[in-house]
Amino acid sequence: MKSGNLGYPRIGQDREWKKALEAYWAGKLDESTLHATLKEIRLNNLRKQRDQGIDVIPVGDFTYYDHILDTSAMFGIVPERFGYGGGEVDLPTYYAVARGNRDSAASEMTKWFNTNYHYIVPELGAGVNPQLTVNRPLAAYREAKAELGIEGRPVIVGPYTYLKLSKGYAAGELDAWIDRLLPLYAHVLRELEAEGVAWVQVDEPILATSLTEDDLSRVRRIYETLTSEAPGISIMLQTYFESVDAYGFVVTLPVHGIGLDFVHDGGRNLAAVREQGFPADKTLGAGLIDGRAIWKADLRSKWETLGTLRGAVAAERIVVQPSSSLLHVPVSAARENALPAELQGALAFADEKLAELVLLAKAGRQGVEAIAVDLEAAERSRDALQRSAARTNERVRARMASLASEPAARASVFESRRAVQDAKWQLPPLPTTTIGSFPQTPEVRGARQKWRKGELSPASYESFIQAQIREWIDIQNEIGLDVLVHGEFERTDMVEFFGEKLAGFAFTAKGWVQSYGSRCVKPPVIYGDVELPKPMTVAETIYAQSLTSKPVKGMLTGPITILNWSFVRDDKSREEVAYQIALALRDEVEALEAAGIGMIQVDEPALREGLPLKREQWAHYLDWAVRAFRLSTSTVKDETQIHTHMCYSEFHDIIESISALDADVISIETSRSHGELIGIFEEHTYDKGIGLGVYDIHSPRVPSSDEMTQMIDRALRVLDPGLFWINPDCGLKTRGRKETVESLRNMVEATEAARERY
Ligand code: GLN
Ligand code: ZN
Repeated sequence: MKSGNLGYPRIGQDREWKKALEAYWAGKLDESTLHATLKEIRLNNLRKQRDQGIDVIPVGDFTYYDHILDTSAMFGIVPERFGYGGGEVDLPTYYAVARGNRDSAASEMTKWFNTNYHYIVPELGAGVNPQLTVNRPLAAYREAKAELGIEGRPVIVGPYTYLKLSKGYAAGELDAWIDRLLPLYAHVLRELEAEGVAWVQVDEPILATSLTEDDLSRVRRIYETLTSEAPGISIMLQTYFESVDAYGFVVTLPVHGIGLDFVHDGGRNLAAVREQGFPADKTLGAGLIDGRAIWKADLRSKWETLGTLRGAVAAERIVVQPSSSLLHVPVSAARENALPAELQGALAFADEKLAELVLLAKAGRQGVEAIAVDLEAAERSRDALQRSAARTNERVRARMASLASEPAARASVFESRRAVQDAKWQLPPLPTTTIGSFPQTPEVRGARQKWRKGELSPASYESFIQAQIREWIDIQNEIGLDVLVHGEFERTDMVEFFGEKLAGFAFTAKGWVQSYGSRCVKPPVIYGDVELPKPMTVAETIYAQSLTSKPVKGMLTGPITILNWSFVRDDKSREEVAYQIALALRDEVEALEAAGIGMIQVDEPALREGLPLKREQWAHYLDWAVRAFRLSTSTVKDETQIHTHMCYSEFHDIIESISALDADVISIETSRSHGELIGIFEEHTYDKGIGLGVYDIHSPRVPSSDEMTQMIDRALRVLDPGLFWINPDCGLKTRGRKETVESLRNMVEATEAARERY
């Protein structure tokens, strides 16, 4: 039995990778220094895996930006607008595709399956002429061997996943695209074969999604071709992130190994192996260690799972591996030093996971006695966390025990609330508002940093924030907006801000993970029971309200967004944790209401991100997500207006759930997608307050009031003007002050003109 890995974080221990990329982009690092710096990080990653004793070490998983973009570059798939003329894709072109340049917009970026990683979407339009520009896996293999004597296993994104994630072709052209790419893949494999490479890892996570019979026959054709073209090389067909629906089919593919996720599979992969067996001539990549969570594994239960697998697969045909690439977890937990001891002891980032893999493989070879000490140690640390005060909060327990009787519906239906709210608020038709944040200028960020370092007293920081609020209340009044916001100047990040104030959260010092390109995020860690010790947003909100007679919206991040942007404890279901967060937020909502705030916005931009990969599981997720939102927002009076906000325009397939949130008003991103969303309302009615963003805040350009008028007119052709709100697409924190003021002025102008017409 061997230990193996599927991919290692690229970003380096101290985000050296990110810093090098950004320095290069800023012209502060020349190309050869960039290459040298990244090579050092890459080799260091390999060395670590070797030194820990990993048997199967992936090579070629490293990237200069994103592995899908690398695959495109390897095959010369560069959109025509970048003026690429064939041959190896140079660095400026590579980064232009990722980030855009003066003349051309970047390629689209989108979420990698159900993770928070984002990839660059390949564009297969006309003018693209696939060719093998450079054999990346081969180069990576040679480097590892020459520099470190490591016999690595090259990684490549499989053809079907690559094509299914691409855009720019019609469904009927898929087979033709397979025909164009297959020879290139075959060429890559033949060269690896000629080099004497024994195994290659071909990633096909698409196999963990719901596929049709046509999909499956294409997959068969692909792998029949590849194995016959390069018969001397063994293919490990790697899946991850979910169970493989077509297990019986996948195991009959003519490949030498199948990699399965036994962590995020809902038990289905394991059941399939147990019930249907596993072919005796294939190797099983057993994804036992969670590649996406940060917790030490329960090695005893992993050993049991391994026992089940050994009932179906010979030990020497098992590779113990993570459930997916480790790129989704931070580098090393050993670097944390300010966390509560019981939490620190229970963490496993990438490096600690490598150690777990080695232990399990060792047990597989020598018997479980060989790791008895480690097993016990793992158990002790998991127990210590389980027993910690943070996880045994009696108040939270009591509340969760009576969850069934907690209200999750407003006292009255929307129609009745609407009458009460109209009477109370007396807003003009087509009321105007914004999404919450105003520009986080260098001045605002600077003050916060000084305060965090203790260079600015809490009192001075508070009066600084108040001055910002005052200034922007005046600006909003002067522009003539109807519903105001305080501006969120005291918040760095819409999840971190709340995590720092809620019980049950912790923040790592170096727990960074790559989100997209050089952008890294440091997700909060939800490790204990979540509770609100004291109000989090009341002071700033009532201060803002004291300055104006217009309503000021309270501004909170919703339970599902907090959940989806954090690392979550693994001893409770996500659903349960969501309810805990929801109840804590309810306390905040009630505190705001009690303090006289009559409009409260609870943002859920990440609601969609939590959707399971498999369609048949959507309903269950949406059910509890909606319930969590409603637990937070349902106890207020009829006259209190609940708002929510979402930043995506894919709305049609979850519109019922969004309506079920029962928010009085929703604001939603529309302009960036050029109003695509509006068409949805021709087929679906939405009968509560709704604001479709009338301008894109992602660009510094000031939109004219005419443009916004067009957007408003289009929207009002399908939506009831009596329920329509006017607002930008999203928060304005990344914008400059001047452009923000000008844009909002134009927005109010467009609104006033529209009020004449409707
Ligand atoms: N209220 C938040 C803001 O305005 C919402 C941000 C978001 O939707 N991502 O910044
Ligand atoms: Zn938004």
